[in-house]
Amino acid sequence: MKRAFSIQSLILLAACLVTARAAAEWYSDTQSIMGTRVHAEVWQEDAAAGQRVLAEIMAEMRRIDAVFSTFLETSELSRLNREAGKGWMEVSDELFDLLKKSRMVSDLTDGAFDITYASAGRYYDYRAGERPDEETLRMALAAINYRYVELDEKTTRVRFAHPEVYVDLGGIAKGHAVDRCAAILAREGIMQGMISAGGDSRIIGDRRGKPWTVGIRDPRREDVTVVLLPLVDTAVSTSGDYERFFEEDGVRYHHILDPSTGDSARATRSVTILGKEATFTDALSTSVFVLGPVEGLKLINRLPGVDAIVIDAEGVMRYSAELDELAH
Ligand code: ADP
Ligand code: MG
Repeated sequence: MKRAFSIQSLILLAACLVTARAAAEWYSDTQSIMGTRVHAEVWQEDAAAGQRVLAEIMAEMRRIDAVFSTFLETSELSRLNREAGKGWMEVSDELFDLLKKSRMVSDLTDGAFDITYASAGRYYDYRAGERPDEETLRMALAAINYRYVELDEKTTRVRFAHPEVYVDLGGIAKGHAVDRCAAILAREGIMQGMISAGGDSRIIGDRRGKPWTVGIRDPRREDVTVVLLPLVDTAVSTSGDYERFFEEDGVRYHHILDPSTGDSARATRSVTILGKEATFTDALSTSVFVLGPVEGLKLINRLPGVDAIVIDAEGVMRYSAELDELAH
């Protein structure tokens, strides 16, 4: 009789199960969610608990995507974009809260961060190499102003004060998702781990006595890392002009728009922000990208507990004041 498995492999399997139960280990998972690579690593006592927590994290990422995606017509954000131009719409506490945080960052950055950028942003298709013509862009620009997103705190209702407003939370939602997942780890009592969604990460604790390392890539050479940051208990976000872009007549059209022009911001190639919460490091990396190295670093130097590494349009690396002291 032929068996599908050998006695030896059964013994090996049993041995694996025993070790998995006996010793704490790293458990990790990587999935494609929110149009990006979601990765989680946790240090856990046993395999079952490790797998359960990873599954919980991936489920939370998918739940958040279903709320904030502009690609899914059924998402709450898509409904907001369809309805809030016509009048007040009641939204979930979670969407209201993220709209409020977006508004705070807009105020802080003098409108460099502006979720209504998408009134123009919706006419770009980076994969297809398409951008709006002048007339479309002119019309869309009239609908870019974060103040057009009116928030009624008492009733958690939202209204757009201009009919053509279209919002996209792509500059802050991944950070929010990472923070929510970090809260899951805290609740589970996990002291060492890391969660990332594309360029937004939370580092929890250290890596068994050593710091975690997060690399910043060369904006023009995919396989080259220009800095390795040793990090413990930090949120870190990177925005770059190499994520989604096309080139036309030597001009790079990429996914971070200057709300004042509706065109891609071109004073920067990459921005990395270090801070406490990924929601803010995410929004700030997009903001500093738009502000450019000079104004951007001025802003970061005013914010306690926040640092930045900027690669400017010439490829020169610049640091915020605190990091600059460490580097020299
Ligand atoms: P990603 O990790 O997707 O590269 P970033 O943090 O670099 O994200 O932010 C880019 C995203 O932010 C864009 O894809 C878009 O959804 C959104 N965005 C672009 N320009 C702005 C802006 N000026 N203000 C707010 N959000 C923006
Ligand atoms: Mg960002």
